[in-house]
Order: sequence, then structure tokens, then C-alpha cells
Amino acid sequence: MVRTFVAVDLPDDLRARIGGVAEALRESRARLSFVDPALIHVTLAFLGEVPPERLPAVAGALAGVRQPPFEVRVGPIAGDGRREPRTLWCPCTGNGSLAGLAAGVARALEPLGFTPERRPFRGHATVARVRSFHPSLGDLLADLPPDGFGAFTVDRFRLKQSTLTPSGPIYDDLSEVLL
Ligand code: ATP
Ligand code: MG
Repeated sequence: MVRTFVAVDLPDDLRARIGGVAEALRESRARLSFVDPALIHVTLAFLGEVPPERLPAVAGALAGVRQPPFEVRVGPIAGDGRREPRTLWCPCTGNGSLAGLAAGVARALEPLGFTPERRPFRGHATVARVRSFHPSLGDLLADLPPDGFGAFTVDRFRLKQSTLTPSGPIYDDLSEVLL
């Protein structure tokens, strides 16, 4: 089985800037696991374990998703909205286009038996996961620069394989769809 998801990659310069700002959070007494900045992305759909022989059909369905390229704004690193956040992320907003793309991906995958996520789509790029919370994390988050990381153009998305390892996930591109 192949663990797969569909994502928009952030440009490397943006990833590096986010990773640099996230460094400040290492001072907190929370236990955090940071996403390797080189892997920072926006997940459009998580497919889970897929039999390898179904991957061509998945890639084929995704290739039919049509939408013009669009801008996404990447907000500052923030908690997920819980009082004690479990995820730290940069909210990503594209005037509805990002949610539209996620919906298009979900529509394309539904006939293949992938049930769409019930929770409303909230575009985000995960920066760290909170293994155990400590109030010092809230203070450090509040002290981060309030400005976001700017915008980038989404002109493609990718089907990715994720291999989980003790030292972090390895992602491999399975297919790419140009918008
Ligand atoms: P790790 O699980 O080791 O922290 P990861 O979360 O980056 O690494 P995966 O668990 O394979 O790797 O997930 C790949 C992508 O899919 C990530 O963006 C993750 O947030 C997202 N994802 C994983 N599981 C789900 C899920 N059940 N529902 C929605 N998105 C998910
Ligand atoms: Mg995971």
C-alpha cells in the first residue's frame, strides 16, 4: 500500500523564511516536532493507504482538475485555534481559489471511492506539531512578527507518496497537474 496525499508545495524561499521564523519557537518549553522546512506544503486531500495498482487511476482523475492559476497569501505562524494548539501552521488564503481547488480535487476523487473530508477546508501549511503543550509556547507565538510571509502563485499541484520513518516523513512526487 502507498500512503498518498495531494498537495501544493510552497516555494523554497518561502519555506526557508518560515523555517527561520519557526526557530524562535525552539525556546518554548512545549515539546514540538518541526516539519522539515523543505517539505512545507498545503494539503488539498489526504488519501491514506492506496493499493499501488490504483495510483494510475488516481493520477488520471487528478489530471482532469481544471482551474486557472491563482495567488495564495501565507499568513504568520499561529496556533490551530485551540486553547492548547496541537498544530502550528501558516494559514493560507486564496480568495476561495484554494478551497475551490481542494473541492475540485475532492470531486475528482469521489468517483474512485475516496470520501470527501467532512470538515470545511482550511488552507494551511503545517510548521510544527505540538507533542506536549506549555504556556511559554503561547507567549512565543504572540511575540512572532505579525506579518505574514507574502504571496505565491499556485500553478500546479501534486500527488505525493509519503513514507513515514522514525526520522520524519519522506515525500515523493507521483504526479504533477499544471493549472
Ligand atoms: P508525520 O505523520 O510523521 O508527522 P506527515 O504528517 O507530514 O508526517 P503524513 O502523515 O503521511 O506525513 O501526512 C501527509 C500529509 O497529509 C500531511 O500534510 C498531513 O498533515 C496530512 N494528513 C495526514 N493524515 C491526515 C488525515 N487523517 N486527514 C487529513 N490530512 C492528513
Ligand atoms: Mg501525519
